[in-house]
Amino acid sequence: MVEDMELDLLPLNLPSDNERPIVIAGPCSAETEEQVMTTAHQLAEKGCHMFRAGIWKPRTKPGGFEGNGEKALPWMKAVKEETGMLITTEVATPEHVELAMKYGMDILWIGARTSANPFAMQALADCLQGIDIPVLVKNPVNPDLELWIGAMERLNQAGIKRLAAIHRGFSSYDKKIYRNTPMWQIPIELRRRIPNLPIVCDPSHIGGRRELIAPLCQQAMDLGFDGLIVESHCNPDAAWSDAKQQVTPDILDYILSLLVVRDEHVTTEGITQLRHQIDDLDNQIMDVLSKRMRVCREIGQYKKEHNMTVLQPARYNEILDKRGAQGALCGMSPEFAAKIFESIHEESVRQQMEIINK
Ligand code: PEP
Ligand code: MN
Repeated sequence: MVEDMELDLLPLNLPSDNERPIVIAGPCSAETEEQVMTTAHQLAEKGCHMFRAGIWKPRTKPGGFEGNGEKALPWMKAVKEETGMLITTEVATPEHVELAMKYGMDILWIGARTSANPFAMQALADCLQGIDIPVLVKNPVNPDLELWIGAMERLNQAGIKRLAAIHRGFSSYDKKIYRNTPMWQIPIELRRRIPNLPIVCDPSHIGGRRELIAPLCQQAMDLGFDGLIVESHCNPDAAWSDAKQQVTPDILDYILSLLVVRDEHVTTEGITQLRHQIDDLDNQIMDVLSKRMRVCREIGQYKKEHNMTVLQPARYNEILDKRGAQGALCGMSPEFAAKIFESIHEESVRQQMEIINK
């Protein structure tokens, strides 16, 4: 087991209402002055204290909306002046930091693609030396807790003491329920390793879909997370980036009003956490099954091209025998393991038949 580690931290001291967690809300991107101001005023009316918007957008492929850059910074400043909300944006380079500071950014966050890159993190840490500002660090795109902690350590060594982690889920290849698999065991392990580090959940980038925001927010509260960062847009369907996962300020307020924030020290937290682990493991089982089906479909294609039968009895028996024996080794009954693989095989055959008969 890795040694517990100490970061030299100070309380974040960010505004929140009594019964609610820290909430940062705002659009994925600052698109136009009107969109920024309208969204900000609507959020402020609902009692939101912190406004987010992306000024520089890391896009997977060139050609998408890459953010307005410096042009949008005066809009953010106006949000702060007109609504009193604190403002925050993503920074990925020293130049971003310099501009963000010039326009009075109150909080910075570091994106998942940047926290995955130690060179970029060190450059950011170096330029933040001597600046007192809260910095929120998203988990790297890949599920690597050490890399995430390392990113925060670099900032901490540069004197950033008001630090928090943002859990935004992890990339994976196959079709799945979430845009970014939550793998809750990773932020749970982070909490165990660095208990005094606040953790904020980003249900928007985990879920990738509006319907998932509410359950993910609740899950984060049940796990004792300290806050939420949620994408909210005055007209989500028309958003220039991440349209499917944004909600209006009204909807966000409704979601927050339904949240049950539990007291960590009483309640049945233990069992709730265990149940969440079960949910998470079940989701992982579903993800792995979907990967397995994809490979089966590829085999189906091969069988079709080589004129082979779908059912290959020798291979089927081999799978049932091997999995049964593995089940026994893992403390399960061999019949149970074999039964599971019978069902999986049945579905694989069904999918291959579809391919062969196409
Ligand atoms: C974002 O918050 O809009 C964003 C780009 O997030 P991430 O770095 O988590 O992908
Ligand atoms: Mn986004």
